[in-house]
Amino acid sequence: MKKKINSKLLLIAIVAIFATMFLITWVYYDLFQKQVTEELRTYAELLKDTADNNELDELVAKEAGSIYSVFGRILPSLFIIAFFLVILCMVIAHYLTRSLIVPIEKLADNLDEFGNPTDYEELIPFVQMIRRQHQDIIKNARVRQEFTANVSHELKTPLTSISGYAELIETGMASEEDTLRFAHGIHSSANRLLVLINDIIRLSELDSTEQETVMERLNLYQAAKTCVDMLGVSAEKHNVTLDLQGAECYITGNKQMMEELLYNLCDNAIRYNNPNGKVVVQVYRVPSFTYLIVEDTGIGIPKEHQERIFERFYRVDKSRSKSSGGTGLGLAIVKHIIAKHDARLELESDKGKGTKVTVIFPDTASKVFT
Ligand code: ADP
Repeated sequence: MKKKINSKLLLIAIVAIFATMFLITWVYYDLFQKQVTEELRTYAELLKDTADNNELDELVAKEAGSIYSVFGRILPSLFIIAFFLVILCMVIAHYLTRSLIVPIEKLADNLDEFGNPTDYEELIPFVQMIRRQHQDIIKNARVRQEFTANVSHELKTPLTSISGYAELIETGMASEEDTLRFAHGIHSSANRLLVLINDIIRLSELDSTEQETVMERLNLYQAAKTCVDMLGVSAEKHNVTLDLQGAECYITGNKQMMEELLYNLCDNAIRYNNPNGKVVVQVYRVPSFTYLIVEDTGIGIPKEHQERIFERFYRVDKSRSKSSGGTGLGLAIVKHIIAKHDARLELESDKGKGTKVTVIFPDTASKVFT
């Protein structure tokens, strides 16, 4: 940049010097020629009668010739002046470039300082954009670091218990009955690991911007029905009724993601419910929007936790989440899926009364058919 500004300034200066010299020379030549011709004419008039014609012609030609010789003599001086002017311009261009560049270099050093660290008004939006991006990068790095620490911690628990049970069996001191119990412990911890790893992989897939989401026209009511049927056994086990209401309606979405979204919301509504509780899933359309509502009569979410439950590994009651097979990632996955569908989520919940999750799909969203 420095070199470019410098050479451009120099180029402008050199063009200006030569253009000025050429124009001045041309104007003076013109003036000089006119004046000499005029003088010679007057001179010739005077001599007309006295001198003979041949002598007069010679005189006139001689004087005119001397115009060229005058310019011939001043040309070297003109070039010397031009040479010194160019040197002068080089020095000025150098300092001018520095004075232009220094504030930008300073700006790069003080980018994180508060206020606007630049004299160039035009650069302020640019600075603000870089700052925002910088802050986002730092925030993302922190989130990732926290996530990695959490993942390690979450994986450690089932692995430690698998290792412990295996060690007990290894000593050969466990009775047959104990061995069976330990094997069951190993089995459930291994299953937990699998579920955790699945959710972690799913989240990182959703995180990656490279994969394009394949959108299609899909029947949301039908997808909800499949999910409700699938979770029927789990609802029975928790002594909870699970119902679907509404009518067939279509949205533009990704089938797998929609199944995951439905599964996570319904699964939570069952797991965080009370015995004899209810879960109602509703799918319906209003002009321009499709609504999906999952409502339960469960334990509810205290107000102070409501914003944070969409964070990775955030749980209101860790032991309840774990004992019911939760990973703490379900709603983080839901949040991602909602963003990919340009949809909106509303949460209403009262501790001890229940939770209502509403997902609103606008008609204009995700109009990418494949
Ligand atoms: P988990 O695997 O722990 O269920 P989620 O990300 O799905 O993780 O949910 C995060 C937390 O939000 C849960 O641990 C639970 O405390 C709370 N939660 C989610 N859904 C409900 C619900 N329907 N009723 C009560 N609490 C809920």
